[in-house]
Amino acid sequence: MSEADGEVFAFQAEIAQLMSLIINTFYSNKEIFLRELISNASDALDKIRYESLTDPSKLDGGKDLSIRIVPNKEDNTLTIIDTGIGMTKSDMVNNLGTIAKSGTKAFMEALQSGADISMIGQFGVGFYSAYLVADRVVVESKHNDDDQHTWESSAGGTFTIKDSTSEPLGRGTKIVLHLKEDQLDYLEERSIREIVKKHSQFIGYPIKLYVEKERTKEVSDEEEEEEEEETDGEKKSEEEEEKIKVEDVDDDDDDSDSDDDDETKGKKKKKTITEKYFEDEELNKTKPIWSRNPDDVKSEEYGEFYKSLTNDWEEHLAVKHFSVEGQLEFRALLFIPKRAPFDMFENKKKKNNIKLYVRRVFIMDNCEELIPEYLNFIKGVVDSEDLPLNISRETLQQSKILKVIRKHLVKKCIELFESLSENKEDYNKLYGQFSKNLKLGIHEDHTNRKKLAEFLRYHTSSSGDELVSLKEYVSRMKENQKHIYYITGESRDAVKNSAFVEKVTKSGCEVLYMVDPIDEYAAQQLKEFDGKTLVCVTKEGLELPEDEESKKRFEEAKTEYEGFCKVIKDILEKKVEKVVVSNRLVDSPCCIVTSQYGWSANMERIMKAQALRDTSTMGYMAAKKHLEINADHSIIKSLKEKVDADKNDKNVKNFVVLMYETSLLASGFNLENPQSHASRIHRMIRFGLGIDEDEEVTESGEADDGELPSLEDDDDMSKMEEVD
Ligand code: ADP
Repeated sequence: MSEADGEVFAFQAEIAQLMSLIINTFYSNKEIFLRELISNASDALDKIRYESLTDPSKLDGGKDLSIRIVPNKEDNTLTIIDTGIGMTKSDMVNNLGTIAKSGTKAFMEALQSGADISMIGQFGVGFYSAYLVADRVVVESKHNDDDQHTWESSAGGTFTIKDSTSEPLGRGTKIVLHLKEDQLDYLEERSIREIVKKHSQFIGYPIKLYVEKERTKEVSDEEEEEEEEETDGEKKSEEEEEKIKVEDVDDDDDDSDSDDDDETKGKKKKKTITEKYFEDEELNKTKPIWSRNPDDVKSEEYGEFYKSLTNDWEEHLAVKHFSVEGQLEFRALLFIPKRAPFDMFENKKKKNNIKLYVRRVFIMDNCEELIPEYLNFIKGVVDSEDLPLNISRETLQQSKILKVIRKHLVKKCIELFESLSENKEDYNKLYGQFSKNLKLGIHEDHTNRKKLAEFLRYHTSSSGDELVSLKEYVSRMKENQKHIYYITGESRDAVKNSAFVEKVTKSGCEVLYMVDPIDEYAAQQLKEFDGKTLVCVTKEGLELPEDEESKKRFEEAKTEYEGFCKVIKDILEKKVEKVVVSNRLVDSPCCIVTSQYGWSANMERIMKAQALRDTSTMGYMAAKKHLEINADHSIIKSLKEKVDADKNDKNVKNFVVLMYETSLLASGFNLENPQSHASRIHRMIRFGLGIDEDEEVTESGEADDGELPSLEDDDDMSKMEEVD
């Protein structure tokens, strides 16, 4: 390959795969390629505009900021030109082919599970949609920091880059699509107009289409021929006739019977000719939607604007359009999407959520100072009248104006959630997608915590498949019920059958099922709702609304079992903080509860699952376990009899350990040495089955003596999981 042919690069493997998928998949809605390329152009324009605010010389390569679309029916090419920031050679190498993005794989996976190709923009690989309609793509680009280069690829795994020999761009990017033979309809003015109107009408820069126009002109016979050819910059006529029509106009009167007649009469004649010429026509003249009066904006217009703002393929779930006046003036448009993005909680991702404008001039994407993290799913624009145009990211952070705007935005978002919550179906859509965000809000935003708590919804022990708000919960609390009861755990099924819930529900109270890891954090911050404390049913000191009779029985049992509890505590040693009689169990012999301020079993599970956990915290925060026994349970009763008879009975120790380990599991903890627990259970099974174990080989490789395993004998206690 010669120098002039340029350097050849291989596409990164996943990108190559994506391209061949785009080329080979049968897909009819190909028009979205234009939306993607226009959106990239608009991003590039945003970038140079932003840079120029602090350094006007950045626009030396060209002050006009716009996008041009040029169809060419002779070459079958469609060209999209922007005067944006452009790409250096290395930008082109990296951005158009060699650097893998998480979205590439995610998009292919999404396609496999039924996603639509039109969703491509959401995954950050929109450029490659060009190959829906083109079999060859040439990109010319000029960045202020580099010379103009040409990128070219007909897919097939490679692309080339060379020094450009084409017309200089000044600055920006020109994408030439060599259309596939069956995609030539995209050269038609009508198609392009339609697509731009449908997908890109709210782009903030002029989108100009190079169109063929006609106009009529009066010429004298002699002039006619040359005038026909002439095209000048005059304003267009909207006529759409195909051919040049020539009409005669009689100078003196209205009679225009026939050419021949007039000419033969020798009158001074003028003709009206219709001539063709080309001109750029702006396709998106609408003024920014947020600067219009909300009463005049149709709901479809919001939908279209939302889609062009976010690259989403569906319309938004809800919108709020408002202005604030007074000491501070701004307009804003906030949207809640229908779905959470695939990478919402990926930390490194650049978010593209709230765009900041100053007096209609775009300043920046994703202005983090404008909205707290938990609301990062809200999309929209804010247009301030007060900020200076040349504001930089650094000064933004200090800006008081921005802080005030932020407060307003949060308030408006809350209003938006409020109005959505009036319709259960709509609200469930929001909650299904963004409940984590709301809970994060409870954790982070103490000013609005109370308000946000109204938006929480949970399944409960009596709600079936319905989600219940805390307000509803409170409204159906029992008369003598003081607290709001909840349980945290891994899943609805896991908590539903938990021993902790037994008594609470039996006493007629409802239990909230908190099964999202973030619920643990949210519940800890929330502490109360409507004056009622939130009480975790797996923690010590559970108070239930009880009658005098059962309270009395409970007190009696405590005295009666005091000695027994002490024996058990001695057996379990440091594994548990204390052993007490329970008031919360019905069908289970015992359970493990945790101390009020330590972690719950669920929290311990969550913390252990976090790869980067601080191991020092594990020590003092790890759940402090209390064993609670059910004095009414037959197992406990008969164990007590054995203890009363002989507190050193080896079998008692075995049973206690087994019971302890089993309730660890049932209470949502993990065993650190599940193997020794399993061996114990197996021995129990053998024992129960009456298997003669003289010949059997135990897990430890020794012949079993057929007796119930003794703790001291095989040192099981030391093998037991370390829980503290
Ligand atoms: P995305 O735009 O979502 O990042 P794309 O695949 O559409 O993903 O584009 C990849 C990258 O190529 C962009 O992030 C941008 O850096 C660069 N790019 C694409 N089109 C242009 C353009 N018209 N001007 C400047 N850079 C561009």
